[in-house]
Amino acid sequence: MIKNNESVVEITPRNIKYYNNKQYICNIGDFITVDISTMPKMSHNLVITICEICFTENTLMFSKYNRNKDRQGFYSCKKCSGHKRKVTVKNKYGVEYISQTEERRISACKWMTSDEFKATSKNTQIDKYGCLYVQTDDHREMISNITKERVNYLKEKGDYNCVLSQMGNKEKREKGMFDKYGATYSFNVPEIKEKIENTKNINRNIKIEQGYESIIDDTIYNSIEFKFYQNKVRYKTNLLRNRLFELWNGIDYYDGEFIKNNLTLHHNDGSYPTIDHKISCFHGFTHNISVDIIASFDNLCITKRKVNGRKGHKLHFVS
Ligand SMILES: [Zn+2]
Repeated sequence: MIKNNESVVEITPRNIKYYNNKQYICNIGDFITVDISTMPKMSHNLVITICEICFTENTLMFSKYNRNKDRQGFYSCKKCSGHKRKVTVKNKYGVEYISQTEERRISACKWMTSDEFKATSKNTQIDKYGCLYVQTDDHREMISNITKERVNYLKEKGDYNCVLSQMGNKEKREKGMFDKYGATYSFNVPEIKEKIENTKNINRNIKIEQGYESIIDDTIYNSIEFKFYQNKVRYKTNLLRNRLFELWNGIDYYDGEFIKNNLTLHHNDGSYPTIDHKISCFHGFTHNISVDIIASFDNLCITKRKVNGRKGHKLHFVS
C-alpha cells in the first residue's frame, strides 16, 4: 500500500497541463500533494510504500510500485519478495516452488528423456545453429560465465571446493574410466587416443594456418637432450618466478586482460596466471639459443594457463 495514498509532485512545464486537467490548481515550480488515483500508472513520481508483509516503509517510483503489485496482487518490499513468491505458489499449488509439483516434475522428466524430444530438439538446434547448441561458442561462453559466477559466489561464502582437489576424486575418475573403457588412463584406450591425436592434428593445422611454424619432428621433442635443456630452463625460470610476479602489473601478456585476481583460483584452472616463455623452450633448443636467454627475465611473461597451453610446446610463432 501507499502511505496516505498520496505523492508529492513538482510541477514542471511538462506536467502542468496534466495536473491542471485533473483539477489541481498549481503553477510551475510548485510542489503539490496529489492523490495517487490521479497519477498515470507509469509515473516516475515518488511515493512512500508500505510493505504488506513487514510494514517497512520505502520510497519508490509509482511505476515500480505498480509493477510489483501487479505481479502478485499485493505489494511487498525486496526483502519479503521471496517470501511472497512462496506464499503465492503455496496458495495455488500447495508447494513452495512451482517445480516441486509432482505432476509437473514427472511430465517434464518423461518428455525430456523421450526419443521424440531428443530428436526434435536436435533438429531444431541444427536448423538454428548448424550444430548442436552445446557446440556453439555462445553456449560455451554462457557455461563459462555461469561457472565463474558460481565459483566466485562459493568462494565468497568460503564454500569453494575445487572438483579436482576433492578427496577420492582421482579414484572415482579412474573407476569410471575403467568401468566404461576397461582402462584407467585415457591414453590406454585406442578410441580416446585416436581422438586426442586427431584433435592435436587439427589444432596444429589451425596454428600453421595462423602463421605458426610446425615442428614436425616429434623425436626432437621426446629426446633426452631436449628434456635436459627443458629442465634447465625450468630450473632457471623458477629462480626468477617470485621477482617476476612481484613486478607484474597483473596484465595477461598476450591478450591484455587483467588477471591478477585469478591467482585466487585453483592452480589447475585455465584462467590461473602462469609463466610463459615468449620464445618457446622448443624454439630455443632447436635454434641453439642458450638456456640463459630462454630463461632470462626479458623472455618471461605471465599469461593464463589456457593461453599457455594453447600455444603448444611444439609450435612457435614466426614473426
Ligand atoms: Zn517487507
